[in-house]
Amino acid sequence: MSNLSRPFRQKLEEAAWISSLASEKVHSSEDGTRKFRFILADGEAVESVLLPERDHWTLCLSSQVGCPLGCRFCLTGKRGWVRNLKASEIIDQVIGVRSTLSRPEKLTNLVLMGMGEPLLNYQNVLQALVVLRSPLGLQFSNRRITLSTSGIIRRWWNSFPSGTLSNWPFR
Ligand code: SF4
Repeated sequence: MSNLSRPFRQKLEEAAWISSLASEKVHSSEDGTRKFRFILADGEAVESVLLPERDHWTLCLSSQVGCPLGCRFCLTGKRGWVRNLKASEIIDQVIGVRSTLSRPEKLTNLVLMGMGEPLLNYQNVLQALVVLRSPLGLQFSNRRITLSTSGIIRRWWNSFPSGTLSNWPFR
C-alpha cells in the first residue's frame, strides 16, 4: 500500500496483521454441496460446508477445532476439544469460500453448525458476528445468520478447568 505514508505503514505493521485461509482440499458431491478443509496457522484443520439452495448459497461455519460435547453420532465430537477458533478464523472461512465463487453475492446465508459448539466460544463467535453483519464488514443480514447450539448448562460448564473455555456469558 505505497499510497500510504511510510510512518503510517509502520504503525499498521505494529498494530495489525492481515489474516487469510486458503482451502487445502475441496470435496464436491453430486447435489452441488462442497466441503472445504482449511489448515490453520498452527497446523490444525477445520471444515466449512457450502450448500446450494434454489437461488443462493448457504455456508456452514466451524467455531472450534474439535468439540467437547462428544455427541455420539458426530466424528468431530469423537476427537474431543482442541481449541477455540479466533474471530478471524471464523470470518476467514467466509472470505476463503466466497473467493472461490463466480457469483460471490449469491452467498447470502450463514449457519454456525459446523465443527464445535458456538456458545462455548462465545466471545470470539460474537466478535466474528459483529464483523460479518457490519456495513463496514461483510454485510450479512441478521435474518440470514443462524446459530445452532446443543445447549449449555452451568454445572457442565463448571466441570472444565478454569480458563479452558471462554468466560461463562450467561449470568
Ligand atoms: S455439538 Fe455439534 S460438533 Fe459438537 S459433538 Fe455435538 S454434533 Fe458434533
